[in-house]
Amino acid sequence: NKKVLLKHFITGFPRESDMELVESDTVRLKVPEGSTAVLLKNLYLSCDPYMRFRMSKHVEPSFVPDFTPGEVISGSGVGKVVDSKHPDFKEGDYVWGMTGWEEYSLITSPEGLVKIKYIDVPLSYYTGLLGMPGFTAYIGFFEICKPKQGEFVFISAASGAVGQLVGQYAKLTGCYVVGSAGSDEKVSLLKHKFGFDDAFNYKKENDLDAALKRCFPEGIDIYFENVGGAMLDAVLLNMRLHGRISACGMISQYNLEEHEGVRNLLSILAKRIRMEGFVVFDHYHNYSEFVEYTVSRLKEGKITYLEDVAEGLEKASGALIGLFYGRNLGKQLVVVARQ
Ligand code: NDP
Repeated sequence: NKKVLLKHFITGFPRESDMELVESDTVRLKVPEGSTAVLLKNLYLSCDPYMRFRMSKHVEPSFVPDFTPGEVISGSGVGKVVDSKHPDFKEGDYVWGMTGWEEYSLITSPEGLVKIKYIDVPLSYYTGLLGMPGFTAYIGFFEICKPKQGEFVFISAASGAVGQLVGQYAKLTGCYVVGSAGSDEKVSLLKHKFGFDDAFNYKKENDLDAALKRCFPEGIDIYFENVGGAMLDAVLLNMRLHGRISACGMISQYNLEEHEGVRNLLSILAKRIRMEGFVVFDHYHNYSEFVEYTVSRLKEGKITYLEDVAEGLEKASGALIGLFYGRNLGKQLVVVARQ
């Protein structure tokens, strides 16, 4: 059973050498008697920015538990049940949920696993489009922003796992949509593959405020916040009256020992802006509503989804740290096995 371990707690940017691939020759292919566990063969693993929080030691509890150095990394993934002593799961079921970065995982609390209803779409989609990031896009856009037709929507980190879908939801709602991303290739994807009305490469803009004024001469109604820092500051200057900001993530801050300050918060008062943070884990009671909405639009060809696929557990640590350098083109996932 190959597995990826976190070697030690980290500060600053994560490196591949903070993780290690080890091989243990014992593979337990049966759930022990007397338990209600499920044994999974892991197929696809999801690389997600929040995993960075788990790689540091927190004095105050974080919104997700810290990893334990020397133990296998856990994260969201897709697996096939190979043995089960739990009444809700049987051999051959496909599920997604928290699993280990290893070939086989014994899931001792399988209640958190979601049985996959639609297996006529790529199973890897349950790491992205139909899994945690896609659901984040749905909750963060529809629930938090309450969008209306004709509104002006801006999305940062727009070509990633969450952003590409927020943009497509916004277009389906009849909004005007602009995204920012960190390369010309990503900008081109936003405009030509995901149907954004406009996009810009924030790394090539000297003045983010001017870039936003160019794209939104009338201002922004909805900001889907994925990056924080200087982008948030520039957006605050360009929000319209009664604008909404969905604080989904602030990836530009995750590796900093000291977080950057925000200077333009006064706009929140002056423009009566509502800025709301959310953690997707609180919303799982709405998961099936999201899946029905998204799968039907996927099957009608109204939604498309781009994945960046790393082959094999050997590539997992590099794929995860790539998120913090913008190396991923679309949803970053790792293939452990295809079936
Ligand atoms: P992505 O697929 O978008 O990958 C991360 C991207 O972030 C990179 O490709 C890069 O894109 C961008 N990025 C990295 N560093 C910086 C930086 N310093 N400044 C600006 N951009 C940077 O990730 P996800 O779609 O999975 O996640 C997007 C956001 O959503 C993250 O902030 C994440 O933490 C958050 N999130 C929140 C959830 C919640 O429950 N609230 C749940 C899931 C995700 P580029 O090349 O464009 O810079």
